[in-house]
Amino acid sequence: MTETLLETAGLCRAFGPLKAVDDVSIAVKAGTITGLIGPNGAGKSTLFNLLTGVLAPDAGKIRLKGEDVTGLPPDALFTRGLGRTFQIPRPFARMSVLENVMMAPVGQTGERVWGPFVGAGRVRAEEARIRARALEVLDFVTLAPLADHPAGKISGGQRKLLELARVLMGDPEVILLDEPAAGVNPSLTATLIEKIEALNRQGKTFVIIEHDMDFIMRHCDPVIAMAEGRLVFEGSAAEAQANPVLLEAYLGT
Ligand code: ADP
Ligand code: MG
Repeated sequence: MTETLLETAGLCRAFGPLKAVDDVSIAVKAGTITGLIGPNGAGKSTLFNLLTGVLAPDAGKIRLKGEDVTGLPPDALFTRGLGRTFQIPRPFARMSVLENVMMAPVGQTGERVWGPFVGAGRVRAEEARIRARALEVLDFVTLAPLADHPAGKISGGQRKLLELARVLMGDPEVILLDEPAAGVNPSLTATLIEKIEALNRQGKTFVIIEHDMDFIMRHCDPVIAMAEGRLVFEGSAAEAQANPVLLEAYLGT
C-alpha cells in the first residue's frame, strides 16, 4: 500500500459566518500528482493555507508523514518537508533572480546559515555553497540565463518558475502549487509541467490547485474537487472524467 504523506481529518476554517473550509478530510499518497479543482471561492487556497500553517484551523487535524502537525507554523512544516508556492508570487523586485533563490529557506537540513557566531570564512563557504545550489536549481527551471536580472522585471510565467526554484532550494518531499498555470503563456506552462513531471519521477509528491479542468485531467491523478468549502469529489482522473456532476460543474456540459 502506498504511504499517505499528507492527510487531513475534519478540517474546518471559517471567516466570520463563511465556512471557507468545511469538514475536509483528504489523504495525499506519496509519489502522486494530486489535482485540486473547484470554482473560485471553493476554499482551495484556504486549504493550502491550513496545510502549510499560514492559517490555523478552527477544528480538525493535519498529519504529515504520520505525525500530527496541526497548528505548527510554516517554517516548522517547511523543515519537515512541505513546500508551497503562492497563487500570486511576490519576489523581491529589486534583487536579482539568483539572489531571490539564494534567499529561500534551505529547509530539511535545518542548517542555520547566518547565525551570529559564525566565522567569516564559514559564511563565505556557506554562501558559495548556496550560490552553487541556487544556480543549479535555476538551471533546472530554465531561468539560469536570467540569473542576474532584477526579479521585478521577469514575466508572470517566469515568476512562477522562480517560485518553484525557491521551493526546490528546501528540497521538500511534498510541494503544493497554487494555480501554477494561471496567466502563464503556453510555452512556459509546458516547461513548468515538464519540470513538475521530472521532479515527480524523482519521487516528489505534488498537490496542484488549478481551475482548468483540462490541465487537471491531463497532468494530475488522483483528483479532488471542492465546492463551497466542502469536498465534493475524490477519485482517479478517469473517474473524475466520467463523473457527470463534475463535468457539469466544470465543463458546463
Ligand atoms: P479558492 O482558492 O478556491 O478560490 P479561497 O480559499 O481563496 O478560494 O476562498 C474561499 C472563501 O473564503 C472565499 O469566499 C473567500 O472570499 C474567503 N476568504 C479567503 N481568505 C479569506 C480571508 N483571509 N478573510 C476573509 N475571507 C476569506
Ligand atoms: Mg485560490
